[in-house]
Amino acid sequence: MRFVIIGAPGAGKGTQAVLLAEKLNLPHISTGDIFRLNIKNGTKLGKKASEYIEKGLLVPDDITVDILSKRLEDPDCKNGFILDGFPRTIDQAEYLDNQLKGMGISLDFALYIDVSDENIIKRMSGRRVCESCGKVYHVIYSPTKVEGVCDDCESRLIQREDDSQEIVMSRLRTFHDLTEKLLDYYRMTGRLIVVKGREVIEMTSKEVLKALEVYNG
Ligand code: AMP
Repeated sequence: MRFVIIGAPGAGKGTQAVLLAEKLNLPHISTGDIFRLNIKNGTKLGKKASEYIEKGLLVPDDITVDILSKRLEDPDCKNGFILDGFPRTIDQAEYLDNQLKGMGISLDFALYIDVSDENIIKRMSGRRVCESCGKVYHVIYSPTKVEGVCDDCESRLIQREDDSQEIVMSRLRTFHDLTEKLLDYYRMTGRLIVVKGREVIEMTSKEVLKALEVYNG
């Protein structure tokens, strides 16, 4: 299975992608995670990407498309993959379709997790991530056992810098201006699956799995 997950920032793309990757035994590829790892390690790519990420803007295609296309050629992508956060524009979607065509494969579908702006803003203020392993929590909807400490690796939880209210508004604008257009792109080619994103992660997961079953017959 090869598919992409689309959603506004904080819609739960990453959370659902991690769960699906485990369930379907597929690699989870998040361009945002790749950028964050590079920023943490102080690489040249990380420095360049952070100029855009910290303003809530998209990292230019020459950088993003390059890292994605290399990642798709890794051996673990041979039997399928889940893309989270790529594509974010029509250009990126066309690029992806062309690259896959060149590899003799194609994208099966795009899964859109639909959450209203109002709920996105509510959710983002409570999102926390582990500074070490990157696991995502929410202070109300998926809290840690010990406040502020990761359940898995016991490292400190932090708020992503780009989750501050001002940057979230900018990321939402970017989503509506550019990424939302992808819905028509995939709808017109009969590859769009829409699921309502719920507050409770398990409820969204259940609906996602049901929608995938229906889609795959
Ligand atoms: P995410 O973790 O998917 O929310 O991504 C965090 C940030 O990384 C985004 O707000 C963008 O600045 C950047 N980013 C991630 N994926 C892409 C992409 N496909 N194209 C451009 N920028 C991206």
